[in-house]
Amino acid sequence: MSIEENIIALNQEIKEICKKAGRAKDEITLIAVTKYVTIERTKEVVNAGVADIAENRLEGLLEKQAAHYDHPVTWHFIGNLQSRKVKSLINQIDYFHALDRISIAKEINKRAEKEIKCFVQVNVSGEATKNGLKPEEVIQFIDELKAFNKIKVVGLMTMAPHTKDEAIIRSVFQKLRALRDEVMNQQWEHAPCQGLSMGMSNDYQIAIEEGATHLRIGSLIVNEEG
Ligand SMILES: *Cc1c(COP(=O)(O)O)cnc(C)c1O
Repeated sequence: MSIEENIIALNQEIKEICKKAGRAKDEITLIAVTKYVTIERTKEVVNAGVADIAENRLEGLLEKQAAHYDHPVTWHFIGNLQSRKVKSLINQIDYFHALDRISIAKEINKRAEKEIKCFVQVNVSGEATKNGLKPEEVIQFIDELKAFNKIKVVGLMTMAPHTKDEAIIRSVFQKLRALRDEVMNQQWEHAPCQGLSMGMSNDYQIAIEEGATHLRIGSLIVNEEG
């Protein structure tokens, strides 16, 4: 299938899962992760109607962004960000999905020319290979972000383990949602925290059922084997 056909099929699938889960499809933003593909393929994604594009490396983001698109694009950064790269990146993006250190928050605050919408990344599964805060650190971390007036915490982000065991994936997403609710209950002005950035190609169905608001989907969109 072509990229366009993949996107049509995916949107249909998302619609059906939403319906079964009693959710409205417009609660969900589909973000296409284009880190695997060229500018040309990224243009196909945008032309097929996906307005949200994500990259996980600074160079990839700047390269994609320099191209001309026929439609407006909202840019998401989903990778680990090093302090020295904040300056070149932060004013180029609309959303940062991987905030997990005060040192980065400080640097963002110093370099940003406008408010930056951030998701705080949480390592719910506790895998050593994954970035993010421990769940028990999240409340205090977000409380400390009050000191940085350019940072708006719009939600929490996580990556589920790579496993076929649905129960494990579901419990990770449920924990992130409970944590999100806990942050929302603080009613912090700097952290409305309504968003849940969770769900990738292999687990987006479960993520929708568990309340995801932002899906980050790569291979399912750009692979053409069908
Ligand atoms: C690559 C990546 C994705 C997309 O993964 P797929 O399995 O290709 O859908 C989502 N989130 C993050 C943080 C990624 O690095």
